[in-house]
Amino acid sequence: METIIIPFITGDGVGAEITPSMQTLVDAAVQRAYTGSRQIKWEEVWAGERAYERLGTWLPDATIEAFATHRIGIKGPLTTPVGGGIRSLNVALRQTLDLYVCLRPVRWYTGVHSPLKHPEQVNMTVFRENTEDIYAGIEWEAGTPQAQRFYRFLHDEMNVDRVRFPESSSFGVKPVSREGTERLVRAACQYALANGLPAVTLVHKGNIMKYTEGNFKKWGYELAQREFAEPLADGRLTINDCIADAFLQNTLLTPELYSVIATLNLNGDYISDQLAAMVGGIGIAPGANINYQTGHAIFEATHGTAPGIAGKNTVNPCSIILSAVMMLQYMGWGEAAALIETALEQAFTAGKATADLARFMPNGTALSTTLFTQEIAARIETE
Ligand code: NAD
Repeated sequence: METIIIPFITGDGVGAEITPSMQTLVDAAVQRAYTGSRQIKWEEVWAGERAYERLGTWLPDATIEAFATHRIGIKGPLTTPVGGGIRSLNVALRQTLDLYVCLRPVRWYTGVHSPLKHPEQVNMTVFRENTEDIYAGIEWEAGTPQAQRFYRFLHDEMNVDRVRFPESSSFGVKPVSREGTERLVRAACQYALANGLPAVTLVHKGNIMKYTEGNFKKWGYELAQREFAEPLADGRLTINDCIADAFLQNTLLTPELYSVIATLNLNGDYISDQLAAMVGGIGIAPGANINYQTGHAIFEATHGTAPGIAGKNTVNPCSIILSAVMMLQYMGWGEAAALIETALEQAFTAGKATADLARFMPNGTALSTTLFTQEIAARIETE
């Protein structure tokens, strides 16, 4: 029997409800698909509030070591520590393992309410750069000696005289590199080819930020033409680009034009949330952080700890469940992934969902998290 150890972080708040739901369904699907020849051994690791209460640290070294050793893991949402040394646990995990792609597939499931007239036309996968851009956290607050010093450097040494209000300005630095761009665009092109998707669209604001976002576009095209010349020539792959603001409009007007999106960190943040809202919103959007060179990948619920509904047995577990579907696909266990996806779609079509989705369904029945999990498990077992 093939056994794969998957480290998992339960997560804070609603994590205690969604993570066991996800594990139940993954186990059911693996059992149904491989009848005992494959299994997952879940290994709990700690992070967030649960780790702090138990071990006095927000992110134990053992957790990072487990993800480093086993390469593939999954996590629930984590409370962001307030006033601690760590700005965000998610960012710390991404940086330590250099998980340079934030992968967000966005598709619509029959039965789920959408604000669009034709949500079935939405089928995009966002490759958001995860390590650079304004998210690098290089910034200085207005009024501090550091901000003043930075301004003096700009003014005195770089001859910059375009800061309108220097005394009261905060400053941020936006690093964008050729290496960072190339590894992201390479991953997007490889993904498009492996999944038979027609185009990679580079989304940028290069008309304004010429050397950062503009070079992202330039380096992206150069990489594609250098490393993917054959599929570009024989029509298996197309590469194009779009300015970020126009892209947000176009995704609403002509979503069918787009399949794989490669973009910088901040654009990717906005784009992922808009696309998620177009197909059902926060409770259902899956995601992963991946380093395609080392193979390290952490799949995750994309929403937060939802403290207002934690412990009420009403939370929608679909975000982490669909992230587990991505994980199974990444492991090459596509049969088990397909069983879960089909069962979810069947349930949505029948109006069976948690309250956040069911209230918008004409035939909707709001199920508790537990009953929804049982509903999906039963469908997996009889598929
Ligand atoms: P949130 O995502 O927890 O909640 C936003 C709103 O969406 C709330 O009304 C919530 O009830 C609802 N919601 C979220 N997930 C839902 C689900 N699965 N089913 C039904 N409703 C759902 O965002 P927030 O309130 O801004 O943040 C709460 C905490 O979570 C903060 O500590 C924040 O730092 C953290 N957070 C963590 C992550 C992560 O670990 N990836 C992401 C975002 C926020």
